[in-house]
Amino acid sequence: MKTIETIDLAGEKVMLRVDFNVPLNAEFAITDDSRMRAALPTLNKILHDGASVIIMSHLGRPKNGPEDHFSLIHIRQHLADLLGREVDFASDCIGEEAASKAAALKPGQVLLLENLRFYKEEEKGDEAFSVRLASMGTFYVNDAFGTAHRAHASTAIMAAHFSGKKGFGLLMAKEVANAEKVMSNPARPLTAIVGGAKVSDKILIVENLMKVADHILIGGGMAYTFFKAQGGEIGNSLCEDDRLETCRDILNRAAEQGVQIHLPVDSVLADRFASDAQTQVAQSGQIPSGWMGLDIGSQAQTDFSTVLKNSKTILWNGPMGVFEMDAFAAGTKAVAEAVAEATQNGAFSLIGGGDSAAAVYQFGFESQVSYVSTGGGALLEFFEGKTLPGIAAVLVD
Ligand code: AMP
Repeated sequence: MKTIETIDLAGEKVMLRVDFNVPLNAEFAITDDSRMRAALPTLNKILHDGASVIIMSHLGRPKNGPEDHFSLIHIRQHLADLLGREVDFASDCIGEEAASKAAALKPGQVLLLENLRFYKEEEKGDEAFSVRLASMGTFYVNDAFGTAHRAHASTAIMAAHFSGKKGFGLLMAKEVANAEKVMSNPARPLTAIVGGAKVSDKILIVENLMKVADHILIGGGMAYTFFKAQGGEIGNSLCEDDRLETCRDILNRAAEQGVQIHLPVDSVLADRFASDAQTQVAQSGQIPSGWMGLDIGSQAQTDFSTVLKNSKTILWNGPMGVFEMDAFAAGTKAVAEAVAEATQNGAFSLIGGGDSAAAVYQFGFESQVSYVSTGGGALLEFFEGKTLPGIAAVLVD
């Protein structure tokens, strides 16, 4: 890893890409600043080295240029409070104001640029736009793991203009190191838990994990396509009929590759998709018509927990049921408990971002697992075996 940890940045003007895409309420107050806090070690390292820093981020999904709602001005004061120093702001991420403020920066000073996505060139990975960004600094640091799977101007393209003068931020380095612990030479048994709504979203990760995992636990809505593929009755449960053949293929190949795929033997059923629906428990392949599986049942919880408690490396991506509704949260909570217990007994556990991270926070287990990733899509693509442009661009000199 080319991390900045061992690089002395004194005197540099660091162009730092972070993920400050934080949620704001109607009054533009930040409702969750964890992404900003996650970048603090990198910011503090840069500033303590005696460098200045020009911060680049996106916020939300602006579609038509500048919109006040998506302005990074709303996070400026909070950033200053977190850093304990002043933060200057450029109301356009490129152009004269940004360039002259960047040129005037002294060691230890901070300049926050306006939302990069006010320019469509950012997401297009436009070369001319990336040159304009790059011209403001002398060193490039990428600490935005959440957008590392995008080949945008600031996340990947501009890195080409910093030959020998670029590195990963400390958050990015930690994310990649933790993901590598699962994929390269993991302590065994290695168990992957894959859940969530759609088989099609998770097919690549299951296929890639089959190369390394000893056990794959499949829960959530995606499990029912597997049951139907084996001739089961799944009632009104989620199903992707165009993926039945893929599911059969995965089950056959798993046996050949010596990977044990575990499906939830029983399910909590509901008569409609609602928190106050009628419920009952049934075998997952024998769901009566008119009912749908919205959580794994208690036998499946026990089966999954047994595998997890014997595991030495655990990766979790996707909930076991509709955990947002109390009536269908027990399966996801039981899995979180088992992951915490395995971790206590020495296992390494990595929780994927997105819904799995939300579930771990909802049940209060975040401090009892080894690492909760800040990246949803980026982590998923890493485990699908794809090259992440934001990582590759820093590695190439
Ligand atoms: P994903 O984004 O694919 O990880 O899916 C997460 C979503 O899947 C969550 O919002 C869950 O509520 C939903 N989910 C999990 N299990 C089921 C299920 N059995 N039926 C319908 N939705 C589910």
